[in-house]
Amino acid sequence: MGSHLSTTVAEGLAFMNLIDGKPVDALSGARIDVACPSDGKVFASIPASGAADVDRAVKAARRAFDSGPWSRMPAVERGRCLTRLFQLVEKHGDELAALESRDTGKPVRQGRADVTATMRYYEFYGGAGDKIHGDTIPFLPGYTALTLREPHGVVAGIIPWNYPLQILARVAGAALAMGNTLVVKPAEDASLSAIRIAELALEAGIPEGVFNVITGYGRDAGAALSAHPGVDYVTFTGSPMTGTAIQQAAAVNNRGVTMELGGKSPQIVFADADIEAALPVLVNAIIQNGGQTCSAGSRILIEKPVYEQIATALAERFSKLTAGPHEADLDLGALINPKQKERVAGFVAAAEEAGIPVLARGQVAADAPAGGWYFAPALFGAVDPKAALAQEEVFGPVLSLFPFEGEEQAVALANDTEFGLVASVWTRDGARQHRVAKRVRAGQVFVNGYGAGGGIELPFGGFKKSGHGREKGFEALYDMSATKTIVFNHG
Ligand code: ADP
Repeated sequence: MGSHLSTTVAEGLAFMNLIDGKPVDALSGARIDVACPSDGKVFASIPASGAADVDRAVKAARRAFDSGPWSRMPAVERGRCLTRLFQLVEKHGDELAALESRDTGKPVRQGRADVTATMRYYEFYGGAGDKIHGDTIPFLPGYTALTLREPHGVVAGIIPWNYPLQILARVAGAALAMGNTLVVKPAEDASLSAIRIAELALEAGIPEGVFNVITGYGRDAGAALSAHPGVDYVTFTGSPMTGTAIQQAAAVNNRGVTMELGGKSPQIVFADADIEAALPVLVNAIIQNGGQTCSAGSRILIEKPVYEQIATALAERFSKLTAGPHEADLDLGALINPKQKERVAGFVAAAEEAGIPVLARGQVAADAPAGGWYFAPALFGAVDPKAALAQEEVFGPVLSLFPFEGEEQAVALANDTEFGLVASVWTRDGARQHRVAKRVRAGQVFVNGYGAGGGIELPFGGFKKSGHGREKGFEALYDMSATKTIVFNHG
């Protein structure tokens, strides 16, 4: 099919929604400016969709689901479409990475890593959908009982701005593999790659109306989508507050939801750990994507005998970190928007005011454009475990250190937030690895390592305020489908 986008984004390009396979503007004609975080300059625009546009997209997805062929197609054929989408993402990888970096301000290296993960999602789910099957259940004499996994129907995917390509792929890969149709509402700050992927999906043979994208503000398009009675299931990644609003909206129709709501993830370093191996991982887990990562390792718990040693080594590394424009490919890029920069700066200022020691600050590159939304990384320690910095998700390049004494206190501190997304344990003691991994309340626990993002095969999701439901791996295919039980009375 002919693309309405050029392969490089022409200045001032007006992106469109993709509904029923067609590029369309919002019915109101209203638009949102798209600025690049690296210089703050507007370079494109997206539709500011409202309830009427949402209704149009949901109806298209409903028709596509109800009339087939997508939902009735053998799973292997749906899988082949996803495999073709994987190949198209690979073919257009440079273009997608450049688009993503420009739209979000992330270093081009990170944009390319996101493309690689995105390919892997479509590849994984391209091969996984036909491996899901139900059970036969021993039941009463004279009966045969079996289960099928059926798609929910129309799935609404509300996507955040931190990893737009990847998070769309984890939603779309699993939802489409199971035969659902989709209405995606990307974040108003980072919608461009979603539009491009929906176009490539058409080229991959995914029928019109199956993969719809509407852009717009959360309070308008997002709210209308989560409350739409034509939506059968809602999946959301973003902040806990917005997650609550979306669940309340979906509850009006009693629809199921998957919620991935971020974290305050601890890395626990015991005195017997391989500290040299841990150091680069500890830094990367908070600096990757400028700390704007749900699974960012934002708390480091350090056993007292090695606290000073690790704090000093981290401070040395932090003081060398530099933020700059995405093309410069430095340690980190700009933050997504001025609001986010203000929020992160607010946490840092409050911590300084409360007397929490700043162990090191990184810097902003001297030649970074003045209009960009840069924030120099900050390292704090020792942080009071009750401080806002210890309890709230900053979503920026801010790392907090906490000393502890012994395993009991380590576990207690690790679990002493409302979140429970990811954790890691650094120790050479095998029995302790098992004990601590089991006692930490987190959806993913790494031992002597840390994986922020990536790991397509690994089920991912939270305990407590970090949300519910599981994404990635085979688990996502269960989230994106429902069990139907069929009972035959054959006497
Ligand atoms: P942020 O606060 O950084 O903008 P959010 O978690 O609010 O992060 O945003 C994640 C996604 O949720 C975006 O696509 C956004 O448009 C959407 N969103 C925001 N508010 C609402 C809402 N009330 N209902 C539905 N979606 C929303």
